[in-house]
Amino acid sequence: MAKKTKSKSTKSVKSVNSIETNEKMSKIISFAKRRGFVFPSSEIYGGFSSIYDYGPYGVELLNNIKKFWWKHMIQLRDNIIGLDSAIFMHPKIWEASGHVAGFSDPLAECKKCHFRFRVDTLLEELGFSADEKMSLGQIEKLFRKNIDKIKCSKCGSNEFTEIKKFNLLVQSNLGNFSSDFEKEPVYLRGETCQGIYVNYKNVLDSTRVKIPFGIAQIGKAFRNEITARQFIFRTREFEQMEMQYFVNPKSEMEEYEKLKEYRWQYYLDLGIKAKNLKWYKHKNLVFYAKEAYDIEYNFPFGFKELEGIHARGDYDLKQHSKFSGKDLSYTDATTSEKYIPHVIESSAGVGRTFLALMTEAYTEEKIDNDIRVVLKLLPELAPIKIAVFPLLKNKPELVKKASEIFNELRKLYMCEFDDNGNIGKRYRRQDEIGTPYCVTVDFDTLEKNEVTVRDRDTMKQEKIKIENLIDYFKLRI
Ligand code: ATP
Repeated sequence: MAKKTKSKSTKSVKSVNSIETNEKMSKIISFAKRRGFVFPSSEIYGGFSSIYDYGPYGVELLNNIKKFWWKHMIQLRDNIIGLDSAIFMHPKIWEASGHVAGFSDPLAECKKCHFRFRVDTLLEELGFSADEKMSLGQIEKLFRKNIDKIKCSKCGSNEFTEIKKFNLLVQSNLGNFSSDFEKEPVYLRGETCQGIYVNYKNVLDSTRVKIPFGIAQIGKAFRNEITARQFIFRTREFEQMEMQYFVNPKSEMEEYEKLKEYRWQYYLDLGIKAKNLKWYKHKNLVFYAKEAYDIEYNFPFGFKELEGIHARGDYDLKQHSKFSGKDLSYTDATTSEKYIPHVIESSAGVGRTFLALMTEAYTEEKIDNDIRVVLKLLPELAPIKIAVFPLLKNKPELVKKASEIFNELRKLYMCEFDDNGNIGKRYRRQDEIGTPYCVTVDFDTLEKNEVTVRDRDTMKQEKIKIENLIDYFKLRI
């Protein structure tokens, strides 16, 4: 629950508005829509603020990001296992976690145009830190003291309402026929990790894991974010990839350092350049936190949080033990040592990773008098791995052969068949969506049983025998 453990701002009113006017960002936003990666939600109804849909290529990239994460966090690890907990949970969980009381941002409203904004991020832009340790009264005082420097970014007025705490939990009406509903509304989860904490004992009892071990899951989370209009960087419905690692209190910091290292390397493996990544150390930690760092990525609008890595002490399990009345302690089978495990967490956003990868991979190359747009994604992440083209669509023998090859390759890889337009245009269409390889079937194919394979990045072409094609791709994808 990073809202409580950090005070670092992400946006101010001004920078919020500037995100979509940033040149690279606008290019990515329009490219993402034009090529079927990201669509604004409910567009034919005028849109739905801060919610986005992933299109045909977007969903492939999204799934590949999640697969990559799952592979690195579970498949390749001895002691981390997966979980898929439900979005709806017992309302008490959000009380125990502190979300009902404390998961909020300070909000003010322009008296003239009713534009609402986060006061902490606005103050941060002016150079003041308004962290969660400050009372609302203190934030209000700081805000009023600097009022002459503050303007509504929408209408220019500087008359604002009193600052209120705005809780980010999204309430539902699930079960509102029951008499308990008024007392305890049901929330859509604000983070996925609470589902992990409350299943810690189930996992322990049903598997052979021993401390240290981790539970990881990917899933949707919902937050009533005040500041909208930041494309997929900050949305009200989003997906998280979270891993909670349960450790002996004595080794908490040692395990924390290892996790930090592992997660940094993960982003390099994902194809992100080290110069575009940076650590941010949280300055004002909440009482239970031992240490908190974020990995930030150099988005077109500057370095911002991509993932949080936090050493959380025993707060989470202690709280759930207290509120549920269940013993969540762990007894070491060899030493008989009994303790409440401490938790270190890695919490990353799928959408933010998507945006980081789009930023990293979107390239415009000048070739002669033309601009080639190419999405330089790792083959493992590319929505389409191989495109197959018959050289001419009016030659049935070429189309037939290309279809045969396409049908074989699609059994192993996400492939696309394209017989429309000249080859150069077809290459460009695939470059734009990041397809690493294109296979062209021409008259040589019929005679010599070989195809032309063209590489997205080098644009080099080579002849490959059809019978060697699968091995060729196995080595590269
Ligand atoms: P921020 O400070 O940007 O609001 P946070 O510190 O509240 O983020 P966490 O609660 O630590 O975020 O969530 C973990 C991760 O989930 C973040 O690093 C981010 O990748 C992702 N995330 C959080 N909120 C959102 C959101 N509204 N939209 C998209 N991704 C989000």
